[in-house]
Amino acid sequence: MDTRIGFGWDSHAFKPGVPLKIGGLSLDHPEGLAGHSDGDVLLHAITDALLGAVAAGDIGTFFPPGDPRWKDADSAIFLNLALEEIQHAGYGIVNVDCSLILAAPKISPIASEMRERVADLLSVDLDQVSIKAKTPEGLNLDHVAQCHAVVLLERVRDPEDLKSMSAIVQSQRELEDVVEDLLTQVHGVPKRRQIVPAFGTEDIT
Ligand code: MG
Repeated sequence: MDTRIGFGWDSHAFKPGVPLKIGGLSLDHPEGLAGHSDGDVLLHAITDALLGAVAAGDIGTFFPPGDPRWKDADSAIFLNLALEEIQHAGYGIVNVDCSLILAAPKISPIASEMRERVADLLSVDLDQVSIKAKTPEGLNLDHVAQCHAVVLLERVRDPEDLKSMSAIVQSQRELEDVVEDLLTQVHGVPKRRQIVPAFGTEDIT
């Protein structure tokens, strides 16, 4: 199996008066995560992990922080671009594992809803997504949310497979040509039998 691994990490500081969004969910909390976009630390980490897995750069390559188009942007946009990049490279997601590190709010009561949301955004099954959360013990970083994400990809479209399939089709055509030649020599049947379509060829659209 042709696989690729990707790792992403992100951090955002908490800021009063900003809506809190993590894993595509809006959370009820007095502070949100400051950022040029919606500050969704988890989606940013997954986006970087996906891009890293296919060596396609990072989130800042595609969405520079100073670009006014991405001011307060929904981070699902970034994730979608990363999904397009891995699909273009011929890969699909095997699984995603994330560790959120933040003092508050508690993630465990909403962890299953967050997993479902992330699985939806990634178009994968629930059991392909893991989201863990822990507090930043001993780091003195209670005002910051961090996220680590690891993704495993597998190749789902192989250009070499397509080449070998066309080679098989070509060899079948060559074989048919040989058979036709033999039939012509032995029985004198026409070299090319006319193929009559089983249905009318008039425009039926
Ligand atoms: Mg970020």
